[in-house]
Amino acid sequence: MTQIFSKEIKCAICGHPSAHDVAISMHVMGWPDMDGRHSGFERSIFALSIQRCPSCGYCAPDISKGSAKAREVIQSQAYCEQFESPDFSALANSFLCQSMISEKDGDFSSAGWASLKAAWACDDQDNNDGAKRCRLRAVEMFKRTMDSGKKFSGYFGNEDVILTDLLRRAERFEEALAVCEEGLSKNLDEQFRKFLEFEKTLIEKEDSGSANSSTVLFAGVFRKMEEKGIKKKVFTREELRMSSI
Ligand SMILES: [Zn+2]
Repeated sequence: MTQIFSKEIKCAICGHPSAHDVAISMHVMGWPDMDGRHSGFERSIFALSIQRCPSCGYCAPDISKGSAKAREVIQSQAYCEQFESPDFSALANSFLCQSMISEKDGDFSSAGWASLKAAWACDDQDNNDGAKRCRLRAVEMFKRTMDSGKKFSGYFGNEDVILTDLLRRAERFEEALAVCEEGLSKNLDEQFRKFLEFEKTLIEKEDSGSANSSTVLFAGVFRKMEEKGIKKKVFTREELRMSSI
């Protein structure tokens, strides 16, 4: 079970103390979306992975830690504009501000994940234009990660799936197809191959909606459920274990 508690944290940039909700013992249930977003309760608490200092506006996963570069970035005009951008919610702006700091620090992987979380915040508010912009920034940051010889995801093949999904959801269908086919040409783990093949069917239909990995992993189960008139597409591990199908 996921536990959340309030903790007073002192900002590393300005020294101001403020209270923040922190999650511990996170227990993940269900299967993630193709871009790594969790299902169930954990789907909503990604917001706890960003903290915003109410005094100086420093945004980071843990504002008790900071760098000279972070101090420099938060004083910039671009950061202030992002912090208050009317195009995004406060949560999305916080993630985008974190992304700016990570980019300046040369940590393009973190910059990409922060942008992707900003996209999830936009998804939750039906801010489609904002979500598209955040996903394209995440793609740019992830590509810069790869260009520097590093990985942004720990699983081989996962990166092709994530990039394909981000481009498809941003309605960049041609680019998504190119990344997808390049991934399929590799000697991939069977599971990732199935994910990419599923992404390809969505790209061909120009479907930019969210896709969950369980749709692929339990395609046979879903087919039988649909035959019985059950429409649900996302299941917890427990529900599938208990299923008599
Ligand atoms: Zn501060």
